[in-house]
Amino acid sequence: MDRRDFLIKSSWVAAGLAAAPGMACAAQPSGPAFSLPELGYAYGALEPHLDAMTMEIHHSKHHQGYVNNLNKALEGHPLAGQKLRDILAALSPSDTALVNNGGGHANHSLFWQILAPGGQQQPAGELAQAVQAAFGSADALRTQLGEAAMKVFGSGWAWLSLDADNKLFISSTRNQENPLMKGVVERSGIPVLGIDVWEHAYYLKFQNRRKDYLDSLMGVLNWTVIGEQYALALKG
Ligand code: MN
Repeated sequence: MDRRDFLIKSSWVAAGLAAAPGMACAAQPSGPAFSLPELGYAYGALEPHLDAMTMEIHHSKHHQGYVNNLNKALEGHPLAGQKLRDILAALSPSDTALVNNGGGHANHSLFWQILAPGGQQQPAGELAQAVQAAFGSADALRTQLGEAAMKVFGSGWAWLSLDADNKLFISSTRNQENPLMKGVVERSGIPVLGIDVWEHAYYLKFQNRRKDYLDSLMGVLNWTVIGEQYALALKG
């Protein structure tokens, strides 16, 4: 298994979000339904863009907290045993425990992958064509994503997603909401790229300078993985 496959199998699939054949009907085993995915790289691997201490606390404390609380929320829940992606699509908007923690688990599972060191530095292949069609250029996409991330008031995420007509769009969501949550987010879709703009994602290194964090983060996006997420999203 090469490193890229490892990342896919270790986090996105572990999060139950992949559309890979054979995963669709997999029931959750007894015991905790979801677990913290491995990063697949060292906490310091994204230095100097993102610092090791932030990565470690973000992954081992914050993300672990979402996983623990998601498993608690699913005890005896009608959606227990479903894939995470199906849980997000089916949950009730008033079910805040699932919105917060199902979203928290899904959002971070994607986030670690698209920040993996290495990979292409620019969109390539089909994704490059789609980005060109939707935004004019990769730079324009990055600018618009950065603007969406800057506009998030308080805690939330900025997203690149695919809508039901297979068109890419940028949006932002509050707290741990995810674009898969119909009835929760303003515009739903399948997320391809998500940017965490909670202060816990950057405060240790960048304090209040969210713009500096975003500029730094744009430099470590792994466009190979993002292209793979786009291909998965196209399959629905
Ligand atoms: Mn976070």
